[in-house]
Order: sequence, then C-alpha cells, then structure tokens
Amino acid sequence: MKCSHCNEEIGEISFCFGAHAPFHYLVLNEEDQQKCDIDNDICVIESRDHFIRGHLEIPVIGSDEVFIWSVWSSVSNTNFERAIELWESEDRSREPGYFGWVSTRLPLYPDTINLKCEVHTRDVGLCPIIILEESDHPLSIEQRNGITIERVIELNHLLMHETL
Ligand SMILES: [Zn+2]
Repeated sequence: MKCSHCNEEIGEISFCFGAHAPFHYLVLNEEDQQKCDIDNDICVIESRDHFIRGHLEIPVIGSDEVFIWSVWSSVSNTNFERAIELWESEDRSREPGYFGWVSTRLPLYPDTINLKCEVHTRDVGLCPIIILEESDHPLSIEQRNGITIERVIELNHLLMHETL
C-alpha cells in the first residue's frame, strides 16, 4: 500500500518499533558499552543500573490490533534479581508489576525518559508489558485511550519516511 502522507510505497504497515538498548547504554562510549551485560531482553550497566525490555502497547481503536513501542525500563536491583530468578518459571505471570522508569527516548513525543511505569512480566517466552503511570504525557494518553489506524500510518510515515 502507499503512504497516505507522502504517497511512498510502505508495503506492510509495521505495528512495532523500538530501541535495541536502553538510552543509558546508547550514550556510553564503546569501551564502557563492552563492560555492560546486555542482550535482547536485559541490560546491566556497571552492576548497578538494571533494565528490562518490554512492550508498551497502544490499542488501535476499532480493531484487535495493538501498536507496540518496544522500550526499556529501569527496575530496582531487587526486582531485577527476582525477574531473573523467575525467568523460566510459570509463576512469573503472577508477579505484581515492578516499578520502573522508562529508559528509552522515543522520537515524536515530548521526552519519554523517566516516565513512571510498571513492568508486568508475562508467561515464559513473552516479554513484559509496560504500563505507563496515568499522566497528561501524550504517550500515556495514547496508551489509555488508544490510537486510530490513521495515527498508526502516520507513525509509520514519520518513522520511515521523515528524517527525524
Ligand atoms: Zn510517508
């Protein structure tokens, strides 16, 4: 299909965008990055700062689809250890939410760093769900109220066709 904003071909609309590492990692120099413990799901900086990647889901109004921002959240040392301990456990979906601070700077929004959130672990094999604290931040409003499919197309356009 063609983009309704600029008429460029977009193929399939993407419903998931995100960051491959926490902002706090991305700003380190290469030498310091190599000292970190990082994979697709977790990141530890200097044995001190602990991050988990999760899906911040935004319902698409009038459909079963969700738009996903794949973002990182900091969690406390205690909750991080708990999450690691339960990584392969069936019990992990029954965990209470872990308090966190969003640790991904998303484009297209006012600064998203340090928005308050909860990290909810799910069944083994699924990454956690990230729920923002209710606030008047546009991302929090979008997560609560949902977005239209036109907004999803606009996000695709802005992320893929515009130079941010
Ligand atoms: Zn476009």
